[in-house]
Amino acid sequence: MNRQNKTASEDKRKKNNMIIPLVFVFVFMTVMVVYVSSLMYKVAVSNSYAVMEDRIMTVSSMIDNHLNTAENVLHVAGDSVHHMLVSGTTSARIHEFLVNETTNVSEQFDENYTGLYGYIMGKYIDGLNWVPPEDYDPKSRDWFIVAKKAAGEVAFSPLYVDAQTGNMIISACRMLPDKQSVIALDVQLRGIQSMMKELKVNGKGYGFVIDSDGLIIANEDETKIGTNISETEGGKELLATIREVDSGSFSYKIGKEKSTIHVNSVGSDWYVVMVVSDRELYSEVWSQRIVIIIICVLIFSMISAVYYAGYNNEKKYTTRMEEMKLEEQKSEYDRKVLELEKDAANASNKAKSDFLANMSHEIRTPLNGILGMDEMIIRESRESRIKQYALEIKSAGNTLLSIINDILDMSKIESGNFEIVPIDYEVSSVLNDVLNMTRPRAGKKGLEYVFQVSPDIPSTLNGDEIRIRQVILNIINNAIKYTQEGSVSVVIAAREIESGNFVDLVISVSDTGMGIREEDKDKLFKSFQRLDEKKNRNIEGTGLGLHITHSLLDMMGGRIDIESEYGKGSTFTITVPQQVINKEPIGDFSKAVKNYLDNIGTDEVALYAPEAEVLVVDDNAMNLEVIEGLLADTRMKLELVQSGEECIERASKKKYDCILLDQMMPGMSGEETLIKMKEMDILKGTPVIALTADAIIGAKESYIQKGFTDYISKPVKYALLEQALKDYLPKGKQIVRDKEEGMPVILIWGEDSDKLKAEKEKLTTVYKCVCAVGDKARDKYLEKHEVQAVMHVV
Ligand code: ADP
Repeated sequence: MNRQNKTASEDKRKKNNMIIPLVFVFVFMTVMVVYVSSLMYKVAVSNSYAVMEDRIMTVSSMIDNHLNTAENVLHVAGDSVHHMLVSGTTSARIHEFLVNETTNVSEQFDENYTGLYGYIMGKYIDGLNWVPPEDYDPKSRDWFIVAKKAAGEVAFSPLYVDAQTGNMIISACRMLPDKQSVIALDVQLRGIQSMMKELKVNGKGYGFVIDSDGLIIANEDETKIGTNISETEGGKELLATIREVDSGSFSYKIGKEKSTIHVNSVGSDWYVVMVVSDRELYSEVWSQRIVIIIICVLIFSMISAVYYAGYNNEKKYTTRMEEMKLEEQKSEYDRKVLELEKDAANASNKAKSDFLANMSHEIRTPLNGILGMDEMIIRESRESRIKQYALEIKSAGNTLLSIINDILDMSKIESGNFEIVPIDYEVSSVLNDVLNMTRPRAGKKGLEYVFQVSPDIPSTLNGDEIRIRQVILNIINNAIKYTQEGSVSVVIAAREIESGNFVDLVISVSDTGMGIREEDKDKLFKSFQRLDEKKNRNIEGTGLGLHITHSLLDMMGGRIDIESEYGKGSTFTITVPQQVINKEPIGDFSKAVKNYLDNIGTDEVALYAPEAEVLVVDDNAMNLEVIEGLLADTRMKLELVQSGEECIERASKKKYDCILLDQMMPGMSGEETLIKMKEMDILKGTPVIALTADAIIGAKESYIQKGFTDYISKPVKYALLEQALKDYLPKGKQIVRDKEEGMPVILIWGEDSDKLKAEKEKLTTVYKCVCAVGDKARDKYLEKHEVQAVMHVV
């Protein structure tokens, strides 16, 4: 609600922001238009007034000129006639003079002045030789009357029709000094008439010349010449105004139209008048004003449009911002929800992982005990039936162990906590392990087993060694498991990948087993999916192996392909890219195979280290017993303790050659114990090997990270334990049986020959034992023979 109000008032503010400047612009432009157009009007008016005045003055002076010329001609001719009269010249001479002058004047002034004539010496004389009619009385003519009135000054007669030409003319006339004679000159009005077209402003308006009685002397419209304006509508008033103004301008309504009239008096009683209607005069100003208004409206519209677009954009922008804010808030909310969900999922995953780790430990610890003890029964029992039972227990125990491992792997994969840990590894070592772990099984089932390794595989690769081994083992074990007769062939090769320093490791496993139906192929990689349940009822399996294999390959960027014919056999092919570390090819692998075959079946003690001192720490007494039993034949000096505290105490007093330290112990854990020992700096380079039941993924790396030298997974397998001790015990303290060099020789000496015999019996399978009773016999033997170890039995 509050938000909405805020948005509405914000909107209003923005609208105002747009409207207020627009109103200002509008007012400013209107004022500007009014001001500019009134200015233009004024300029136009004064311009046209000036033009009209100019025109009218020009025409007036031209008319003045026209009349003055007539006046001058008349003065000159009059004076000449007067002289002739005074000097007694005859009327015939005067006639001749007038004829000559008439010709001169009309030639000189372009026929504007057409003929001198007069009443001289009591008779009418005409320079044009016009013969008047009988009844013609010069004294009654206007020119005679006007001249007489003017008494010697030049005067002009009113307008009249020329008896000879029929043109409208006036006459300039003058009474001679004898006060009887009058001389006159006809003045044509054509010249004045032609001036009328000058009385225009830019082609607008018209002009005319009238005398003081309103008689039109000249007009653009020639037909009006000789008419009187006072006879037209409103003409009297106009004439009165013209006479009143005399020279100047005034506004006047002619008909319905308002006009501006300029008037100027010329001569004694003429007026030059010029009329322009205001509509005509200001039409241009109006059109200019309209253009300005249009331009202003356009500019205003453009400004408004720009403002409006700006306002709209701003509005859109604000709306978008609002939306974005909302989106942001929403995504923030989603993110938080996701985070919470993730936290919850993580917590539940962690709980699951913890549960699995615990379960793993809880199951493995007793299993460790069972298998360890079982191992001892297998070794020590002389009774074959018991040994057989123990072997059965071993096999079932191992199966149980692998199932636990599979379940652990799968839950890790599904919770997304599975990590691929690449390290540099020797290919031959992995393949050797694979061969060692698969050949006996195939052999036991009477299957032909082919293991073919291409010699050009690079010897060192980088990848997750453990997982590579796991997926290869899985498909080979399956092939052996699901094949009752015939063969299993494994072909291993490396294919170069063009880009970079990588190869595709390709492992192809073919069997002549039961095969897989086409329609079942899709089910293969689903968890807990087993095919052909009826047939497979007696074959152990959980249906997890291929699911795990597929997931692991996915994570390593590899893939698995299957070709199979139901009832005939299958080929599983794994392709997985691995980085090449050492290009050197592994060479002939058959040699390794041969070595392996030579060793086959010997699961005997191969390490003898009576001088080695090893501390074993485990809270579980049975586990301690198992390790003690497993290592008994090595004759190591074992010290067994059941807690971290005891371990620290012992280690601080003595330097051991190796410490085997259990992880999960009540009180101080293995890790805490190690940290404490490192803090106390009592280890001095003693290797510490973790014993752990939670053999979950990445365990080895994480133990090494924590500072352990290595780790051994429980249940402890003797071979692994022995290998670890071989690796970490000082070389000088171990005697290793070597096939090539034959059995190591051990000299057993003491005083009690029975004890010596019993000891020899225990060791003869592994070592060549020589007994010496008493120290003299011992020294004598040693003088002549080389032995690998001397053992004192008390
Ligand atoms: P299991 O633990 O049952 O072996 P896997 O996931 O490894 O589980 O295999 C799933 C199923 O695929 C098996 O139950 C079996 O039916 C079938 N299968 C696997 N490998 C082969 C093979 N080489 N020949 C025939 N069937 C096979």
